[in-house]
Amino acid sequence: MAQTRDRRSPRELETLWKESDMSGGRKVDAMVAIMRTNGCCWAKSGSGGCTMCGYRTASLSGVTEEDLNAQIDQALAKYKGEPFVKIYTSGSFFDPEEIPVPVRERVFREFAGCRRLLVESRPEFITDELAASLPKNMTVALGLESSNEEILRTSINKGFTAAQSKAAGERLKAAGLMVRTYLLLKPPFMSEKAGMDDVVSSVRFADPFSDEISINPLNIQHGTYVERLWKRGDFRPPWIWSLMEVMKKVSGTVHSRIISSPSGGGSQRGVHNCGKCDAEALAAVERFSFSQDPADLNVACECRKTWEQYLEAEKYLGTAADIGRAFDSDLTIRM
Ligand code: SF4
Ligand SMILES: [Zn+2]
Repeated sequence: MAQTRDRRSPRELETLWKESDMSGGRKVDAMVAIMRTNGCCWAKSGSGGCTMCGYRTASLSGVTEEDLNAQIDQALAKYKGEPFVKIYTSGSFFDPEEIPVPVRERVFREFAGCRRLLVESRPEFITDELAASLPKNMTVALGLESSNEEILRTSINKGFTAAQSKAAGERLKAAGLMVRTYLLLKPPFMSEKAGMDDVVSSVRFADPFSDEISINPLNIQHGTYVERLWKRGDFRPPWIWSLMEVMKKVSGTVHSRIISSPSGGGSQRGVHNCGKCDAEALAAVERFSFSQDPADLNVACECRKTWEQYLEAEKYLGTAADIGRAFDSDLTIRM
């Protein structure tokens, strides 16, 4: 098949938007910028990257320091003094192949005045020296995904261990910085119930070296290994009930703030319920992410019974396949 040329300009941000988040216990305005870089080192390696990650196809090549500075100019032109700024690269901000050191330092200077500056990184880039050199308004997000080494290795193909992620978190905490840990709800090959149990134990593992734990339900991204499983009925993105149940279970038992802002929520590719209650259930998840009050998770819908039956059925059938698909009147996958 002929290769289509990527026409996206390396001098422009992938996207930028404004949202709300928490800082110092208060809801504040936040600006989120997604930069175009040369891409995640793990996704570009011969490993194929993480099984659920579509960033390999999203990253560019030959992005220069000048291009990256042009993207920062673009972000600054849209910046209205929001107290919280998030700079994502679809990879690791601290990988010098993605963000060269002078660009990194420029970001620190330009956003020195904001209360929180959040970036993401794989743990191998977090050395003691790096942690000590970072500005104190910094939050580093670490994609731990699961505390279970076997799941990380065989199901997610993460390319680092939970122990490495923990060491990076501890280094950042020792340097007085904030840590946001990402966990994946329902990696491939896991039943709904096993996925929920794994998040609960991963929250307990991550709590000592985290300030915030973001539970990310798996969403089906284009061109991924997980997409192939999903298309043939071997995977169903998690139910919103499962996300809410996990949140209720850990609420009040850990010191970290538990949050979730699901990508693709309510669609067939994202975390979803029956369709009728999805908007209400996702609104409840958002309310809880700010309030931390489990009462905010009280939602009622008849599909909760179906979800309970789903958990029972997959246990008896001993499968992680999308058993619900067999009961749909319309068996086509909506994409
Ligand atoms: S999930 Fe993160 S670490 Fe894994 S391939 Fe994607 S960008 Fe890289
Ligand atoms: Zn419902």
